[in-house]
Parts: sequence; C-alpha cells; structure tokens
Amino acid sequence: MIKTVKSVNLAGKRVIMRVDFNVPMKDGVVQDDTRITAALPTINYILDQGVKTLTLMSHLGDPAKDSKKAKEKAEKDGKSFDEAAYIRGRHRMAPIAAYLEKKLGRSVIFAGEDGCYGKKAFIDSQKDGSVIMLENTRFHKEETSKDALERDKLAKELASYGDVFVNDAFGTAHRDHASTASIAKFVTPAVGGFLMEKEVRFLEPIVTNPEKPLVAIIGGAKVSSKIAVLESLLKNAKALVIGGGMAYTFLKAQGHEVGKSLVEDDQIGTAKNILEAAKKAGAEIVLPLDQVAAETFDAAASPVAVDSRDLPANLMGLDVGPKTIALYKKVLDTAKTIVWNGPVGVFEFDAFAKGTEEVAKLVAEATGRGAITVVGGGDSVAAVNKFGLASKMSHVSTGGGASLELLEGRKLPGIEVCRG
Ligand code: ADP
Ligand code: MG
Repeated sequence: MIKTVKSVNLAGKRVIMRVDFNVPMKDGVVQDDTRITAALPTINYILDQGVKTLTLMSHLGDPAKDSKKAKEKAEKDGKSFDEAAYIRGRHRMAPIAAYLEKKLGRSVIFAGEDGCYGKKAFIDSQKDGSVIMLENTRFHKEETSKDALERDKLAKELASYGDVFVNDAFGTAHRDHASTASIAKFVTPAVGGFLMEKEVRFLEPIVTNPEKPLVAIIGGAKVSSKIAVLESLLKNAKALVIGGGMAYTFLKAQGHEVGKSLVEDDQIGTAKNILEAAKKAGAEIVLPLDQVAAETFDAAASPVAVDSRDLPANLMGLDVGPKTIALYKKVLDTAKTIVWNGPVGVFEFDAFAKGTEEVAKLVAEATGRGAITVVGGGDSVAAVNKFGLASKMSHVSTGGGASLELLEGRKLPGIEVCRG
C-alpha cells in the first residue's frame, strides 16, 4: 500500500500536487472532464485541512511532439500551420484552471504562461488557502528528459513550491518524469492522493495476491501490447479469456483458419509459448468458439455469423458469437476476482459491439454477486462507459498505460515515491 494525504498533518503547509489533468481539449475547451472530477476528492480534502497554499501541476498533451506531428500533417496536406494557435488551443493550462475554478466553487489562480520556473515568490505571496495552477509541465524539456540530472533541475524548482508532495496522477504514474517522481527526492513527505490510493488498492492485489478464483479477460487489437500482462496474470488466474483481434494470433497458432482476421505473424511463437505456460500453470485459456465476421473492416460492413473457430478465407473476425458468450458466462460464474483489459470485438462499430457489451454485463453481474471487478485500459473503459455500466464495476481505472503496467507486475515510479 501507499501512504496517503491522511497520514500527514497538512495544516499551514504549502502543498505541491501532481494531478492528471491531461484531458482532451478542442479550441481551448475541455471535451471530457473525467480526470478533473477524479482529482476533486483529494483537492477538497487538502483544502479542508487548512493548508497555506495548494499548487497543482499537470501535463496536457505534449506541446513539442504534438505540434511537430500536426505541422508535418499540415505540410503533407498542403495546408498552412499556425503553431502558436495550435498550442494555445490544446496545451495551455489557463482554460483548465478556469474550468477547475467552476467545479471547485473557489478561485484558482493561474501562475502564468511563461512556464513553471520562478514561481516561488508568487506562490508564497498568495493568501492562506489559495489554489494555484502551474502551466503545462511539458513546456519544459526537462520534464520528460532521459537524463536524471536534467529532470532534477525542474524537479528541484517544483519541490521548492511545497512542504509536502502529493501525487494523485495515476494516469502518469508509469512515467519517470520530473513532476511525477524526481520531485520526491527534493520534498518530503511524498504521499498519494485518494485516486492513486484506490487505483493501487484494486490493481496491485490482482498481481500479488488476488482473492481466488481469478479470471482475466484480455482482449484488444494486438498480442504484442499484451504479452507481459498475459504472462503476469496467468500465474494467479484460473482462466485467461483471450478475445478481440489478438485471439486470432492464438487461433492461428493452434492451427485454425483465421481468414482475413487481424493476425501478428511474428507473434505466433509468443502465442504458442503463452499457451504452453498456461498449461504448466494450470490456467485454462478460453478462445472464441464462434464469431461475428465481415468482409471488410468497416462500420457499415454486413455482419456474418460463423458458428466455428475457423473462418473462411474471405472473412475477418470482428466480434465473438453467442456460443462464446455462453462459455464466458460459465467461466466467470465462480470467479471471486475479475480483471478485464481489452474489448472482445470492434465495439466502436455497432454491428460488432455485442460481445463486448455482453462481457460488460457479465462483469457487472459478477459485481452484484460480490466479486471484485476491475476494468483497465483506455478502450475497455470507453466501452464500459458507452454501455452505461461503469458504476456497476468495483473499480474502473483512470489510467490506460499505468493500469497495464501495474497488471504486468511492474513497479511504477509515480507510485513508488508514495510508499513513504
Ligand atoms: P485497451 O485500450 O482497453 O487496452 P486495446 O487498445 O488493446 O484495448 O484494443 C482496443 C481495440 O481493439 C479497439 O479499438 C477494438 O476495435 C480493437 N479490436 C477488438 N477486437 C478486434 C478484432 N476482432 N479485430 C480488430 N480489432 C479489434
Ligand atoms: Mg487502447
């Protein structure tokens, strides 16, 4: 477990807090405030303790990388590109400060667009109980630098803004950056917020000591992005349900016909190894029994039901069929812990969303009968939200990459600094 804000006396202290306000922006307008809302309990708790100042910092996209990409695209399309306007619309924290001010119902002082350096006097001159927001940490190359000394330069500066460091940015916890990890070298204590605490409380035990039986449902597009998580989960899982695009690499490894389905031929060896390792560990591997297929990868493609593990040459599997769903129901029935990462079909296309919707319902039902249910991964979480079932899960992770790395059994820099 990690130490949290509850373990320190915050009265009269200056708090420097890393949040994950990396929300989607369009023309300076917040498109989805989930991440902002998720940080509110910790922010409100800190303010209730009578702190001197609470200074918030976050990244918001990656200004240098994003604008380079956008510029290249504009050049390719023969369009003009206004870099300043591009960054203003997507990467400045001022609109986020204004948004937070409304959500919080108290004033949020923006520390200025000139970056994160040289703000100590400004922060210390604010009246007690002030909330201050810094500019996007990624405007400074030190934030993400691979050189620890370079990161330390920014980290030291940020550390000078607080007597206590609070990290509640789970979504960035897998990054070893100045504002997420290096900073903890220069300000103690370092503790987690409630969001960080909840993420760790649900995700960590799945790898260390889950309440058994554990069933893992791993789907999504590619085997290559999920190898480590499959290997990590099969140590504790009674069953690994493998669905989505990645199932076809496994089916091909078993000698099935996969038609035009998504297959990573260079991962067939890996799939064979995982099948072998599962056998040794006594974990059942559950692959699709039947499918919903199509001739093309297209929202308007006509769905074809294929009552077999094998597909004809002209079709690609885009969702699991009813027999597979019935099998999932049986496998999930006795599970005390269920972890789900990756949709079992192309749920973005309505005609191929049923399998993923049924999985979401089965997992929600399991929560109802007392199982611990955890959903992680950007697209899986989007799916659960799309089907309106997020509140029916024990935990829906706010961090895609971070949750995956925790499930892989890795130590995350942004979490390790909160151990006290
Ligand atoms: P997550 O973000 O939850 O970790 P991934 O990013 O690994 O999930 O995978 C999500 C993507 O996998 C979705 O965009 C979905 O359309 C795709 N996908 C699911 N099933 C298939 C399939 N049978 N063929 C191709 N793509 C698929
Ligand atoms: Mg994804």
